[in-house]
Parts: sequence; structure tokens; C-alpha cells
Amino acid sequence: MAACIFCKIIRGEIPALKIFESEKTLAFLDIGPLSKGHSLIIPKYHGAKLHDIPDDQLSEVLSVAKKIALAQNLENYNLLQNNGRIAHQVVDHVHFHVIPKPNETEGLG
Ligand code: 5GP
Ligand code: ZN
Repeated sequence: MAACIFCKIIRGEIPALKIFESEKTLAFLDIGPLSKGHSLIIPKYHGAKLHDIPDDQLSEVLSVAKKIALAQNLENYNLLQNNGRIAHQVVDHVHFHVIPKPNETEGLG
């Protein structure tokens, strides 16, 4: 979708720190991280909400989330996916947040 910011990242039209890419899935670091290493996993198929995406385009998302958790050696983290403004969705291209939860001695640094 031409105007979609995440589709622009997929097409390489705006930069992102990519951490995983396959034919149908992309993961990259969030530009406004809630904690160090906060990343987003997206299907390359454009759709605003989870129910807009065909199952086969979502099939890698959980395994990519596991790869990120293992690669970042995460012990505490949230996997989060928002749908709709009231549910705090800002970008209308389906995305899954992987949000590390550092212990109290760690922060954003
Ligand atoms: P939402 O509230 O829609 O679930 O989350 C959208 C997320 O996308 C936010 O955490 C925000 O920081 C991130 N984001 C928005 N624009 C960009 C961008 O251009 N690049 C990257 N890497 N992340 C973005
Ligand atoms: Zn899009």
C-alpha cells in the first residue's frame, strides 16, 4: 500500500534496523522503543488488523518471535498486537511487538 509507513520499510523507501527478513515476514527495531531491543514483526502482506491477514501470511510470526527472544536471550518479555485506535493501534499495518522487560538495574540504556 503506497502510503503505509511499514510498506515503505518493506520496499526500502525509508530506513529501518532490520533483524529478520524472509519472503513473507519482516522484523525490525521499533523507532520509539519501550525498552532496549523492542522490535516489531510484520507480515509483508498489507492489512490493517489481524483479521485482514490470510493465515498463510501470518504463519511465521510466532517462530520469528521465538527466534528474537532466543537471540536477545530474553527471560521476560511481552508479545503484543494492537487492533484499532481504542486498543492503541497507531500504525495501520499489522505488527507484533516484542517488548523485552528488563530487570530493575537495566533500563533503556
Ligand atoms: P502500535 O501502537 O500501532 O501498536 O505501534 C506502532 C509502533 O510503531 C510504535 O511502537 C512506534 O514507535 C513504531 N513506529 C512508528 N513509525 C515507525 C517507523 O517509521 N519506524 C519504526 N522502526 N517504527 C515505527
Ligand atoms: Zn502496509
